[in-house]
Amino acid sequence: MNKAYLMANFNDWVCDPRLEIAAVRQFVTDPSLIGSTFRGKFLVWESSGSQGIPGVFVQDDAAMAIYDALEATRRRVPNPALRMLDPWGVFDRIAFIGATNGHFASTVSIERLRRLNPFLSSALRSISFLQPPPALAQELARFNPRVIATYPSVAVMLAEKKAQGKLDISPQEIWTGGETLTGAMRTVISQAFHAEVINSYGASEFMSLAFECAHQRLHLNSDWAILEPVDEMNRPVPIGQAGCTTLLTNLANHIQPIIRYDLGDRVSIASMPCECGSVLPVIEVQGRSGDVLFLGDRSGRTPVSALALSTVVETIEELVDFQLIQTSSNELELNTELGGPLVNEALRRAKSVLESYLKSQNLGRIRVCCHAERPSARGRNGKVNRIIAWPRNSHR
Ligand SMILES: [Zn+2]
Repeated sequence: MNKAYLMANFNDWVCDPRLEIAAVRQFVTDPSLIGSTFRGKFLVWESSGSQGIPGVFVQDDAAMAIYDALEATRRRVPNPALRMLDPWGVFDRIAFIGATNGHFASTVSIERLRRLNPFLSSALRSISFLQPPPALAQELARFNPRVIATYPSVAVMLAEKKAQGKLDISPQEIWTGGETLTGAMRTVISQAFHAEVINSYGASEFMSLAFECAHQRLHLNSDWAILEPVDEMNRPVPIGQAGCTTLLTNLANHIQPIIRYDLGDRVSIASMPCECGSVLPVIEVQGRSGDVLFLGDRSGRTPVSALALSTVVETIEELVDFQLIQTSSNELELNTELGGPLVNEALRRAKSVLESYLKSQNLGRIRVCCHAERPSARGRNGKVNRIIAWPRNSHR
């Protein structure tokens, strides 16, 4: 199954007649309802539309109880003593930094917890990164979080502010998810804050698919979610390979069945167990599958894999964060939010490796323009697509 077919047949897909698509869509247009229940029973969130199709996902109490339990028992706790002294986290301070103006899964989850447990509301806060950086820095400093949960691209931006002395917070843990976290990103974030970076992997279709262990490997919650890496004909690929997409089966959600559903991510499942001793399988997430750029002159536009282009740029490790935007059939923009002489030098080298890769693909002349200190183009949910094809695809 895929999202386009299921969303087009939403009323037949869901298992409760009260979940009528027109009413559910109406519900998610009202920001004052974020985290409250639809018809007193269902939690609703939207995805901002991978492959151009916005999704709407509904969960009942039974599904939420399982996601809560996974979050509580499987997310790694680097400081167990703290958890023993304060098992409910009442005295903890966790800041989620993201797009707080829409019914997106992370924001809905935080607001739901705040509504369910008023005593937690001083401990948990959603903070919008859409505000100007000085205002964001001020709000964060006032809250002084022990934990920051956000996208890797936002964490890198905060790390730069911290290193420049423009951000006065000292979180002990940074939880990342929602985008790919590269090794270079992890280093920059953990060094700037002297904090532990803990990664996770999830989707609107299943919130907590995998958490990272102390060996920095993602372990799939395979007792509640099945992932099947498959080829373009939906045939299983050998273990250890990523295939071209991945089928998800969600065993927790009985209200909106997600069974062998095309997730669009390339995921591989390791054949070897992890040294940490967990019996849950190790997975590696290699990003979106479908994104392709058509580059070249009139005589023939050639498909180029977005994954290949980002892999080429990632060879320049000093360019910790970047975005590559196709602005025409023969022009790319390579941008980064970061600045300074080292970043400019890294951009110059990235441009050079990218141009030689493009040349090797016989695409004709492709111009690459570089910009430092340029804010990333973000999707409605605030996530950054590393590579944006032209004409501009909708973001995830
Ligand atoms: Zn492990």
